[in-house]
Amino acid sequence: MLNKSTVILGAGFTGLSAGYLLSKKGYNVTIIEQLPHPGGIGSEIVDRGNRYEMGAHLFHCPDKEIMEEIKALVGQELIKINRTIKINFNGKYYDFPLKLHEILINLPFTVVTKAVFSFILYKAKSIFSKNKNKNSEDVLINSYGRVLYEIFFKSYIEHVWGILPNQFSPKFAQQRIPNFNILEIFSKIKKYIYFKIIENKPVDIENYTEKVEGDLYSTREGFSGIAKIIANKILDNGGIIIYNSRVEKIELGEDNKIHSIDYLKKNIRNRIKLDGLISTIPISNMVKMVKPKIKNPIIIQSLDKIKYRSLVFVGFIVKGKKKLPADLTYYRNLSFNRLTDLTSIGINQKLENTKTIIAEITCDIFDEVWQNDSLAKKLVFDDIEKEDLFEIKNITHSHVFRLKHAYPIYLKGFDKSLDYIHQYLNSIPNVITAGRQGNFQYINSHIAIRYGYNAANKIIKYYN
Ligand SMILES: Cc1cc2nc3c(=O)[nH]c(=O)nc-3n(C[C@H](O)[C@H](O)[C@H](O)COP(=O)(O)OP(=O)(O)OC[C@H]3O[C@@H](n4cnc5c(N)ncnc54)[C@H](O)[C@@H]3O)c2cc1C
Repeated sequence: MLNKSTVILGAGFTGLSAGYLLSKKGYNVTIIEQLPHPGGIGSEIVDRGNRYEMGAHLFHCPDKEIMEEIKALVGQELIKINRTIKINFNGKYYDFPLKLHEILINLPFTVVTKAVFSFILYKAKSIFSKNKNKNSEDVLINSYGRVLYEIFFKSYIEHVWGILPNQFSPKFAQQRIPNFNILEIFSKIKKYIYFKIIENKPVDIENYTEKVEGDLYSTREGFSGIAKIIANKILDNGGIIIYNSRVEKIELGEDNKIHSIDYLKKNIRNRIKLDGLISTIPISNMVKMVKPKIKNPIIIQSLDKIKYRSLVFVGFIVKGKKKLPADLTYYRNLSFNRLTDLTSIGINQKLENTKTIIAEITCDIFDEVWQNDSLAKKLVFDDIEKEDLFEIKNITHSHVFRLKHAYPIYLKGFDKSLDYIHQYLNSIPNVITAGRQGNFQYINSHIAIRYGYNAANKIIKYYN
């Protein structure tokens, strides 16, 4: 069966780990990637010798097997990182995750009283009510009360996502919004229980909820260093990675199996025949590439419900001793919603006394900032100066780069649409979709790696 050829679409963490496992087991594997480098969302962007990454990336992994594998693969290059996070709220910086009591003592007494009553009222209601949460607003109000919801979540979510919480599926709030540390003791108990559970149980990848717990890792080359090492291992194992190549067509035969894919490289169309396909590119894009075209109206409508929030990154190098309040700092009322100091989370600096900073602007691809580099820089630099974070005259280099499929938007009813799409794909025996884009799921890189391994094992099972 080793003569079977697998094509993998995308060289992000999912595609790389699937390619690594298949090539290690002796299977023919070819990865097609539109970017000039491996890593996908976790990759490196170089401009005139200056290195940037797509925001704050650190490897954390409660999945013991994956952690051991990464340690063995990356070896000495893997370094432990301690990072600090703060959130700016009404002009003050607070530790993150937020400690509710710290914020409450800074609010007017009347607001606090109302907040406490509202919290108790909705908690009691949610215990006795059998009504299910219909959207993310319901989840947040039932968890925190209406007053805290209005103060902390409503406008923030609209600022970052461009949509009010009542437009989101309940799953969005359940997966994305971290719990407040109402009492430290409670949080410690939760942590203890959580680690007890994961020692005995594998991480549930289908119902994954973002949690950053345990040790954090990167490399001196930054997070993308991990992706580069895995990519090199695939090449050592005889696998092929074709960069700068955009997949455009997926040929479905009359036997309802995928036979080949077409990709464009330097405007030249190429075709690869295959026995099995693992797709890690955005699921809706992938299904739209299948020829002959899908005619089922339910699938066509479902594809339109799969939407993403995009990110514009402004990376800059700043000289001097001035530091950000934390390694990762979140803002609610500025053009960017997060600043990351890449220098303090691992990446080696070319010049001494400089820092590499990344500002993240969440947006829609129809917003002007998505198209316009000068506007993105102006917005970020004006806010940086207004907040007295750095002086613009000390910025020695800056570069704007983008991520179209940054965050899946869990609109109300998205899960049903996704189910229809998966049902269609499951009817084709030699294709597997996996990963953050392939499953339209908020996941971190260790889950992407687990998905990649699962996809590789599934395709091997199909061959045998
Ligand atoms: C801002 C941000 C910060 C994050 N921070 C962390 C963190 O600290 N720790 C952590 O573990 N995770 C983090 N994550 C999540 C992590 O980056 C992802 O879970 C992981 O990288 C997903 O890998 P993937 O391979 O599934 O998807 P991707 O990385 O998106 O890979 C898909 C690949 O497919 C390629 N592709 C798409 N279309 C085509 C086409 N038509 N032809 C050819 N190639 C194509 C893309 O270029 C891409 O390389 C973060 C995510 C974001 C957005």
